[in-house]
Amino acid sequence: MSAAAGDRPRSETAPAAPVVVPAATRLRLWRRELLRLALALLLGALVGGWLEHAAVGVAVVLLVLLLQQTRHVIRLRLWLQAPKRVELPEPGGLWGEVFDGLVDLQRKNRKKKKKLAAILAEFQASTAALPDGAVVLGERGEIAWFNGAAQRLLGLRSPQDIGIRVPNLIRHPDFARYFDGGDYAREVEVPSPINPAKTLSLRIVPYGNHQRLLIARDVSERLLLDAARRDFVANASHELRTPLTVLRGYLDLMEAEAKGDGTLAPWRSPIDEMRQQAVRMENLINDMLKLARLESARAQMRQDPLDAPALIQRAVEDARQLSRGQHRFELDIDPRLGLTGGETQLQSIFVNLIGNAVRYTPPGGAIRVRWHESAEGVRFSVADTGIGIPQKDIPRLTERFYRVDVGRSQASGGTGLGLSIVKHALEAFDARLEIESEVGVGSTFCCVFPPQRTLRLPAVAAAASNRD
Ligand code: ADP
Repeated sequence: MSAAAGDRPRSETAPAAPVVVPAATRLRLWRRELLRLALALLLGALVGGWLEHAAVGVAVVLLVLLLQQTRHVIRLRLWLQAPKRVELPEPGGLWGEVFDGLVDLQRKNRKKKKKLAAILAEFQASTAALPDGAVVLGERGEIAWFNGAAQRLLGLRSPQDIGIRVPNLIRHPDFARYFDGGDYAREVEVPSPINPAKTLSLRIVPYGNHQRLLIARDVSERLLLDAARRDFVANASHELRTPLTVLRGYLDLMEAEAKGDGTLAPWRSPIDEMRQQAVRMENLINDMLKLARLESARAQMRQDPLDAPALIQRAVEDARQLSRGQHRFELDIDPRLGLTGGETQLQSIFVNLIGNAVRYTPPGGAIRVRWHESAEGVRFSVADTGIGIPQKDIPRLTERFYRVDVGRSQASGGTGLGLSIVKHALEAFDARLEIESEVGVGSTFCCVFPPQRTLRLPAVAAAASNRD
């Protein structure tokens, strides 16, 4: 019988026969196997018949075939148990094709495993070389893996810390809030758990199925450089202020003198120009100092209860003086809404936004100031009917010294730092700025303060806050 022909051990390196049997050939296989069976049975019946026992001949053939099948099944069972030690035979026929397929599958799996192992080794080598710490977190925030930099920066130890939840190892309230908050679009800066003199920027990147990657970066050097730059600007501005005050004092005197018929009368125009430029420089220095202070005060932001409606009212009074009655003011202020934070910062926001509305709205225009509650928190908005801002300039408005129209900004006494100051002050309140504008129609600047900053003020006379 043909099945007996090949019981040679199969060579591992022999080229693999095609594994996938298409549906069309399935029928051919059936036909071939049935033919073989029929031929074997016929042979058995003939030999049995010749010995006058045809049924015995058929039975013997069936027994041989059954034994053969059992033998193959046993070999397969042993091979499955230890595929490296046991070799599959090459019996030909259907079993041969089954064994070929299995060996081929095994060979492919080995190749894939080797490839995956190489990729994994490469990945581990590259992450080990990363200067940033990388920690793979499981579903509950437990540590599953970390690289060498994470070990250095966060003081993680392997294998002791594997499986421990990361907030149990990085014990800082800011990180705990960030970790539980689930808003991973930003980073959080905390002192290093092993060296408080160093500051780490931590960022969580969610991926896959509830998994998270924690990236840790040492930002101590950047913070030192930032502090040095801030100190330099603050010191330089401070140093410039004293000589400028002296110059301004003399120019004020000279201007008064030049207004009369005295010797300085012919110098009236240049003196006036010098005085205006001195005032501009003074404003610029004051804004630079304000910005430097805002930046360095970010970490130690005050948490005072603030009567925001009263501060808005004060900023509107300043704006009215700037307007000299040329604009119409509409107020819609909820007198019960206060905030917690620093007064200077909040005052800067109100004064700059309302002041800008006056400076960029032609006489006769209207300025609407609103202070009210919304689903996202408390909103402060200033809408004007002024010159408006082209869409392309809106994203850059809060950059230092960015002006849409330099001439107009300078003519209106602007320093180009107003919206930068607003942006920094808003950051201290965890608030955001929304700007909508249309050229020739007007602009709306809206600050959204988060609900955790909101404060309920004792009821006061609403009329006082909404006085026009
Ligand atoms: P500046 O001192 O020049 O006003 P800001 O930082 O306050 O500087 O504003 C930046 C620029 O944004 C201004 O130069 C001006 O072009 C534009 N801008 C600000 N507020 C308004 C407004 N309400 N309407 C039109 N343009 C505005």
